[in-house]
Amino acid sequence: MPGGVNSPVRSFRGVGGDPPFFASAKGAHLTDLDGNRYLDMVLAYGPLILGHLDERVVAALRTQLGRGEAMGGPTLAEVELAEEVARLMPAVEMLRLTSSGTEAAMSAVRLARGVTGRDLIVKFDGCYHGHGDSLLAAAGSGVATLAIPGSPGVPAGTVADTVVVAFNDLAGVREEMERRGERVAAVIVEPVAGNMGVVPPAPGFLEGLRELTTASGSILILDEVMTGFRVSRGGAQERYGLAPDLTCLGKIIGGGLPVGALGGRRALMEQLAPAGPIYQAGTLSGSPLAVAAGLTTLRALQEGDPYSRLERLGARLQAGLEAAGAAAGVPLRVNRVGSMLTFFFTGEEVVDFRSARTSDLSHFSQVHRRLLQGGVFWPPSQFEAGFLSVVHPEAELDRLVGLFSHALAELV
Ligand SMILES: *Cc1c(COP(=O)(O)O)cnc(C)c1O
Repeated sequence: MPGGVNSPVRSFRGVGGDPPFFASAKGAHLTDLDGNRYLDMVLAYGPLILGHLDERVVAALRTQLGRGEAMGGPTLAEVELAEEVARLMPAVEMLRLTSSGTEAAMSAVRLARGVTGRDLIVKFDGCYHGHGDSLLAAAGSGVATLAIPGSPGVPAGTVADTVVVAFNDLAGVREEMERRGERVAAVIVEPVAGNMGVVPPAPGFLEGLRELTTASGSILILDEVMTGFRVSRGGAQERYGLAPDLTCLGKIIGGGLPVGALGGRRALMEQLAPAGPIYQAGTLSGSPLAVAAGLTTLRALQEGDPYSRLERLGARLQAGLEAAGAAAGVPLRVNRVGSMLTFFFTGEEVVDFRSARTSDLSHFSQVHRRLLQGGVFWPPSQFEAGFLSVVHPEAELDRLVGLFSHALAELV
């Protein structure tokens, strides 16, 4: 396997060393092949908000295994999942399931271009929307520029229609929209950026995007693959009071199995095949096993008050890390929205990808290594989010803070 892994960040290239090979998981913990136990702050990069092997999810999977693994036709559970999402996110009037977040974002872009008859896509520097060509674009120099390919193999022609603006730079978006808004099919954004490390939206940023896209007749695509059902029951659109035209989902909606989804206004969604002319498909889209895990997860999140607990846990962890940074005199910024958190080793406020990159990556690597040695699995890159599940014990977070404190004292 290239780099020894099936998805790049797992390789530890960002921090050095080799990743543990995992053998099993339960609740908030992972166990590797040597029997070492880790507090899991990665949670498969977001999906496992209930922790590993939640009993309700396991029971739903067992039940579905008794019924069949794939049907090649519609099933009741797909309808139930679509209804559940529509209830939690009123802006989602219709839903199409995919097998990954990448497919959801690719399909959202095609749909937006198809319905508007326009080509340009505006995205934000440091935001990740999966590995589809048109969204794998990096910012060139300058405030807002036409994109350059983010990877060899992405044709310059493909990203020539992608405009990259700095996250939280509403003035930059306004400028772009004034210049060529009538050619912009869509603005796509992570409402809380999680793929440059956690960067919250500045007050007014998301509302501004809503106003600018409405004014220019462009589609607003909220990529809630990470934030959906995580930063609140109804995702970031509920937390920030936003009505996007299209929403991309993934991660939690699959409860740990491969699912993505694209949802939004009926008039737009009805343009997808076979109701409309814009093509989108998937052999295992709506896989009964994945849908069972996802539906059970979404329903479990309606019971009790898991989001208050996640908020409390997140606040406790943030306060502990910040106190450790202050005690050690190490420049530190902890960005957090609910149960997503990143620590940056910088004195600058982290508001976009540029400021995120001011973090001292050597500090990050050293701290990451100490956490791992102490039995905490933190994402092996500065530019990823740490996650909490509802079953993370307070005492384990305090232990994490203790390790973090020691790591700061030993920084070289
Ligand atoms: C993870 C992620 C994706 C890609 O989802 P995959 O299931 O890995 O294809 C897209 N957008 C955001 C915001 C993500 O966090």
